[in-house]
Amino acid sequence: MSLEFYPQLRAFFRHADNRRMKRLTVMKAAQTAATTAMMVTLLHRIAENPVAAMWITANAEKAKEYVNRRLFPALMDCAAVNALAPADWTWRLVQFATMDLMIRGAVSKQEMTSDPVGLMICDERREWQIPVELVRQRMKTFGNAQEISIGTAGLVDDSLHADWRSGSQGFIQFTCPKCAHSQPFRFGKKKTALFPEARDIGGVVWPDDERTRNADGSWKLEATVNPDGTRLDDGVRNLAEYQCEKCGDKLPQSARLPLLKTAQDVHRNPKQMEQFPSLHWNFMTMPGAAMDFGAGAVTFLTAMAALKASGNQEPLRYFVTDDCGEPWEMLAAKVEASDIMARMGNYCVGERFPASAGETFTLMTVDRQKGHLVYVIRQWLKGGASRLLEFGKLPDDFEALRKFQTERGIRSVTGDDGGYDEADTGNVFKWRMACVKYNWNSFKGDKAENYAEDKVRTYWRRSPFNTGVGAHVLHNAYLWSKVHYLSKLYNVFLKGEGPTWTIPRDVQAEYLHQLQAYEFRPATQTGDKGEWIKNGADHAASCELMQIVMADSSGIIQSFGAAQ
Ligand SMILES: [Zn+2]
Repeated sequence: MSLEFYPQLRAFFRHADNRRMKRLTVMKAAQTAATTAMMVTLLHRIAENPVAAMWITANAEKAKEYVNRRLFPALMDCAAVNALAPADWTWRLVQFATMDLMIRGAVSKQEMTSDPVGLMICDERREWQIPVELVRQRMKTFGNAQEISIGTAGLVDDSLHADWRSGSQGFIQFTCPKCAHSQPFRFGKKKTALFPEARDIGGVVWPDDERTRNADGSWKLEATVNPDGTRLDDGVRNLAEYQCEKCGDKLPQSARLPLLKTAQDVHRNPKQMEQFPSLHWNFMTMPGAAMDFGAGAVTFLTAMAALKASGNQEPLRYFVTDDCGEPWEMLAAKVEASDIMARMGNYCVGERFPASAGETFTLMTVDRQKGHLVYVIRQWLKGGASRLLEFGKLPDDFEALRKFQTERGIRSVTGDDGGYDEADTGNVFKWRMACVKYNWNSFKGDKAENYAEDKVRTYWRRSPFNTGVGAHVLHNAYLWSKVHYLSKLYNVFLKGEGPTWTIPRDVQAEYLHQLQAYEFRPATQTGDKGEWIKNGADHAASCELMQIVMADSSGIIQSFGAAQ
């Protein structure tokens, strides 16, 4: 393949071919030709510089598919390698005349048992289920063993990010045609894990005027198509440009190919470049129109709209990791008092939305404690906005709860399953029977990060419970991902990033205190994901979490989000 417009591959091959290289680490965007680059490197080694090699990807299925669809056809095509190939091979082992190639999925320690190898190609590192250190043990007996590790960016401080950081930290940089300033392709202005300095100008920009806005103020992403099929020169996709971070000059999409032709890798930590080169690249290093400045701007704005409409961070996360090739960082580690003050609305406890706000849904959630129940009543609007109406306590008496519900005219009551007291099954049972009787919902916070069903990832799952008494089945029972919803409450709703979420100006201090009970503790060692830690009573937070789960699972948030 011609490397003319692929600066990242020019850099990759130069470092991969350097015999003094010990480990080449690439943290990059998805679909940016990295697998092709690795395959070319492998063929080159088989023909020119053979050594026992192991190629490891996420799992056996992916390995098989790679071998059958990519590697074998390429072997057959390449005369020099084909001449060295054996008559018989399996997808796990190919014994060339010059060297053995082993192929593995990174799922278990046993899979990695083999003779020592001199070249280890580690693909799709983000998906691995075993630590890379297990694999590195296979290389110890080779004095000049080499590793090529590659992956789409995952989380800040994960093992790929750590390897990349300990390497030379190379970026693909271009030179501004106007002021000659050399700079990496970088999408935004805010500071990120890879770009720790915020900047005032630079990156992908687009006009904000009648050409890029719809009548309702939302972004006009695509060009307007006239009735006769012609297109107007409007919409974000068409009009996005790249702004030089130094002189502010704007480079149109048409200037991108010449930039790619001359772009080069520049390393922050050049001392490591010889032995431990590491490279980063994002979607902007790909020459096709599908990954131009406008395409990136559209993906970004779509992700931000989803965040605003439904509080769903996932599209933004994928933009950061899979398009920008940067590791994802939790938006916030801790809720500050100022965040909570900013959520206070101009209304008092118990004051409902005015009738003009339209249809509302009032949800009551209950955190069950020994001796009493803590509740939150929150009113939700079409569009996903909500306000806290009331926070309080009731005795631990389901008949009293039912009476309270009826008096207030609240349709939906949701409570936790009683997980605070796993040993007291009688307590859980009593609650479930009350749920069957009164059609309440029973929720249980769960350790799962998500529930993948038919490839659609959800964060709650219906989990019907047979009470064992006659035909009493509790259908309104759900599991929900605590990690996901804690992140949604703290990083999206409380930060004002999602739909408007308010609390009354005279809310009780106890509520504020309990709302802040959780704190995210980032990973302290490579490979960890970090965790949410609870400090003190968390009843208000629990109730607010269940509010969001309920609004999500009943479609109150989701259907509004989809409507925009
Ligand atoms: Zn410039």
